[in-house]
Amino acid sequence: MKTKGRIFMSYKSIDTALIHGGISIDERTGAVNVPIYQTSTFKQDGLGKMRGYEYSRTGNPTREALEKLIAELEGGYAGFAFASGLAAETAVLSLLHSGDRVLISSNVYGGTFRLLNNVFDHFNITYTISDTENPEAFENDITFDVKAVLLESPANPLMTVTDIRKIAQIAHEHGLLVIVDNTFMTPYLQRPISLGADIVVHSATKYLGGHSDVVAGLAIAKTKELADKIAFVQNSTGGVLPPFDSFLLIRGIKTLGVRLDRHVENALAAANFLSSHSAVKSVHYPGLETDKGYEINKSQAKNGGVMISFELKDGYDIKKFFESLELITLAESLGGVESLVCHPSTMTHASIPEEIRKKVGITDGLIRLSIGIEDINDILEDLKQAINSSKL
Ligand SMILES: *Cc1c(COP(=O)(O)O)cnc(C)c1O
Repeated sequence: MKTKGRIFMSYKSIDTALIHGGISIDERTGAVNVPIYQTSTFKQDGLGKMRGYEYSRTGNPTREALEKLIAELEGGYAGFAFASGLAAETAVLSLLHSGDRVLISSNVYGGTFRLLNNVFDHFNITYTISDTENPEAFENDITFDVKAVLLESPANPLMTVTDIRKIAQIAHEHGLLVIVDNTFMTPYLQRPISLGADIVVHSATKYLGGHSDVVAGLAIAKTKELADKIAFVQNSTGGVLPPFDSFLLIRGIKTLGVRLDRHVENALAAANFLSSHSAVKSVHYPGLETDKGYEINKSQAKNGGVMISFELKDGYDIKKFFESLELITLAESLGGVESLVCHPSTMTHASIPEEIRKKVGITDGLIRLSIGIEDINDILEDLKQAINSSKL
């Protein structure tokens, strides 16, 4: 039997939608979790008589529950789940055609840059790095061939804030598609479609999954027209999220609210600690009132999120800093319950050529923190002792 469950169209509170949104109850058995439909194909009752599913690349009930959930959370028409964030971006960028150009914000994720610079260039789809923090500069970058803008706010790793409403408005005046990578904020903190975006993409590997145990991507389309196009690409190119991973993601999303409340509380404490430490040269965190992105971020997001980057002053050895950390783990990725640290210029952003890194301010001294949900005193203690140990 096909299991459709109840479909809740909207809740007043996102805290409730995280738990009950999409398809939350299995109608056939009453199970309060969506079953893992580990099947590739579905019986047809006769020629052309499907029960709603035919083949799991095209549609799978577990994946569908996740897709309905994320569409509801982001306020879009439909959602699509992919095997990674980059697979989701690949599908969305596949809406472009040879000869088209996309504007990307200057701090995009390194893999997004590599996808455009080294893969989509084969198909004559090009990009320009645009300063989306500055709407006038952005408008000046819109040449005849520009068809889309892909931005992150806050953008990784300098946590630069883009005024999504303003950029979307300018972009739409020029007929561009507005794509926002909302990985760093999630719909719990920021809902780009309500700010003017046409498509939202996620690396669900990060906060949505939240436990560093699944690699996944999501795309959400605002309109039926865009949803139909993405559905076609998803089925045609096939980078879909498997049923078990879809289940894990639904499970992760249920606790997104409580996790993020603690993450953000800890991040704010860590940012305050770093900005008042005498060894610290700069702190980038849009949740600090002194941050240049604070006001705009506040106008479009619930708070400053979780990601922080900072630099130590001369006289501190950053290699030593990384080696001295005991609790905070040196690793790529972010958004899990455990605190992670990374070195953007040699890790997450290494695929961006050095001269571009320098130009946009990704220095070799930059340290990026993904603050976890451990006891804040343990996190601060670890930062303190690692800074002390790194003094030359
Ligand atoms: C990690 C990340 C991606 C890529 O996602 P994967 O799931 O690793 O493919 C894209 N955008 C941002 C902002 C990310 O942090």
